[in-house]
Amino acid sequence: MKVSECTSRKIISSCGLKDLNYQVDPYVGCEHYCYYCYALATAETDWSKEIQTHKNIVEQLSEEIDKIPPQTIYMGYHTDPYQPCEAEYRQTRKVLALFFEKGFSASILTKSDLVVRDVDILKEMKDAAVSVSVAFNDNSTRRLFEAETMDTEKRIEALRQLKEAGVRTGALVCPVIPYITDAIKLIDLLEPHTDVIWVYGLGINDPLGQNWLTIQKILRCHFPDLIEPIEAAVFSKEHIYWTRLRDNLVALKNDRQLNLNIHL
Ligand code: SF4
Repeated sequence: MKVSECTSRKIISSCGLKDLNYQVDPYVGCEHYCYYCYALATAETDWSKEIQTHKNIVEQLSEEIDKIPPQTIYMGYHTDPYQPCEAEYRQTRKVLALFFEKGFSASILTKSDLVVRDVDILKEMKDAAVSVSVAFNDNSTRRLFEAETMDTEKRIEALRQLKEAGVRTGALVCPVIPYITDAIKLIDLLEPHTDVIWVYGLGINDPLGQNWLTIQKILRCHFPDLIEPIEAAVFSKEHIYWTRLRDNLVALKNDRQLNLNIHL
């Protein structure tokens, strides 16, 4: 994997998520290379070969956050802050250390257990939160859709360790791929280790877009019998698959009094 420097740009940007005003992407590009990733449409490099870092991330970000009041910053929107190169480049760790020094906090989304490395900083930050996203019940299926991510079990174990250390934890069951993802089983595994769970369906709107064409190729090769029902459900949120799943999740939420947010 080639790691180069990106063109000069602002590091902090606005964030549309509830209660979060700003986000930071410590890298440009993401080695995890999930074939359904919405950010692939704006990729600046071929993520299977090259991702980028910011030059002097600490100095520049320090100047940028000095202009805003201390608050929680989101990390994990266009790139995974704990993709494999973070083990060596430690951009995310440097950002967290800077946030902590300046009285900021972080809300992190990742698909990697490398986040546990930084538990020493996270547990000292006021209101830090870490969420992992999971979408597959078995790792051989996961590898078909997410080229370079970590096993589902390792992500859940990371949540366990973070929660035990006193860090707020959450999980996204995302993306639910109709007839492939068993969302209820994943919630069963996640529930003991999370304070909150969100469920999102596969969000593809363009049947001719690259995300869907790549997923179609995977389905044709590995799930030929499912391609038609999956396609029907992906492009219709009123499909019976979603109606049933929504009903089952609402029942589960009520039965177990779960902090479960259903976005299907
Ligand atoms: S981990 Fe997230 S940002 Fe990275 S490729 Fe996958 S979906 Fe995209």
